[in-house]
Amino acid sequence: MINLSQRMVALGTAKSEIREAFAFAQARAAAVGPEQVDDFSIGNPSVPAPDTVKELVHQLMDSVDPVKLHGYTPAQGEASVRQALADDLNRRYGTGYTADHFYLTAGAAGALCCALSALGCPGDQFLTFAPYFPEYKVFVESAGAQLVAVPARLEDFQIDFAALEAALSPQVKGVIINSPNNPTGVVYSQETIRRLAQMLGEKSRAYGHPIWLISDEPYREIVYQTAPLPWVPDFYDNTLVCYSYSKSLSLPGQRIGYVLVPPQAEEADLVYAAICGAGRALGYVCAPSLFQLVVARCAGQTADMAVYRRNRDLFLDALRSMGYTCAQPEGAFYLFPRSLEPDAAAFCERARKYDLILVSGDSFGCPGHVRISYCVPTEQIQRALPKFRALAREYGVGG
Ligand code: PLP
Repeated sequence: MINLSQRMVALGTAKSEIREAFAFAQARAAAVGPEQVDDFSIGNPSVPAPDTVKELVHQLMDSVDPVKLHGYTPAQGEASVRQALADDLNRRYGTGYTADHFYLTAGAAGALCCALSALGCPGDQFLTFAPYFPEYKVFVESAGAQLVAVPARLEDFQIDFAALEAALSPQVKGVIINSPNNPTGVVYSQETIRRLAQMLGEKSRAYGHPIWLISDEPYREIVYQTAPLPWVPDFYDNTLVCYSYSKSLSLPGQRIGYVLVPPQAEEADLVYAAICGAGRALGYVCAPSLFQLVVARCAGQTADMAVYRRNRDLFLDALRSMGYTCAQPEGAFYLFPRSLEPDAAAFCERARKYDLILVSGDSFGCPGHVRISYCVPTEQIQRALPKFRALAREYGVGG
């Protein structure tokens, strides 16, 4: 047998439950008809990118020299693009960023990989809160470090500060947060971020090295509550923001996002250099050139995401009235209700009898729950509700 990286073979052959569920849904749709199958497995935005994106693509194709338009850009991205993103954030958050604080990437995944590889040294740990986006483990381990999941409070999926404090050992190089959250939809308040910042600051001083806060924010623009989302670097200097246009502009396939290294971060220039080095070592070369120009020109805009709020309200109210228990999601496009039996995988299997496709919380490090992705047409939810009711009745739940 040829000699290959066993880690890569394992990653390439291990089944992602989300992908498997999605493939199952597609196969069932082909077999019994798409209108019979209600797939809530995957977080692919269901609304189109705004018209401005289409217009800009046409305009850029018509007006910019194609050699330039499709050429390599500087590794960190076009300076004018980075300046446009800085101007947008400065307008919204009253900050003083410049082009030099941004490194453009292939989405939030690319941003996280660069940030984690820049910070991670052998023996380091990164903490996150369970449930969490499953790729964190892959990205952290690729950076040569270890991911440690701290359970969140199960009743509301907010940070369990006692558990966090117990996990914050001197090995911890950083903490990954994701608000609004995949898979729970939960949002951290200003007070939560302040408390987190205080604890990380105290531990950083006690251990004599910074503990970085990596704020993974692909859902920053998808918020339902009226209270504004806290801008994390305002609360904690050693924050790296990982952002993406996959969800806010419905551009997941175009792979565009950034890492922001705020100037107040410790040795910010060196951290930025390490991020450039990580991008180089990972072979990213530069972020897609056409979509760098597109996002610069629609900075601050979003797709029309009104349907996500309608879906959340409809779905959450209906599931609760049927007897499901679900924490209040204030952002993103996921629900994370409790499974009606302890084995969430078995529950998902039962749901499949109704062609109802869900993903178990085990994939997110949180057994006993299921993730429902509601970035789907509202009619699909309406059609699926009787199935959820019938499923609940199988467990003797609901009237
Ligand atoms: N982080 C979280 C929490 C996500 O849910 C996702 C994608 O679903 C990503 C990162 C990666 O997003 P991107 O498409 O920007 O790489």
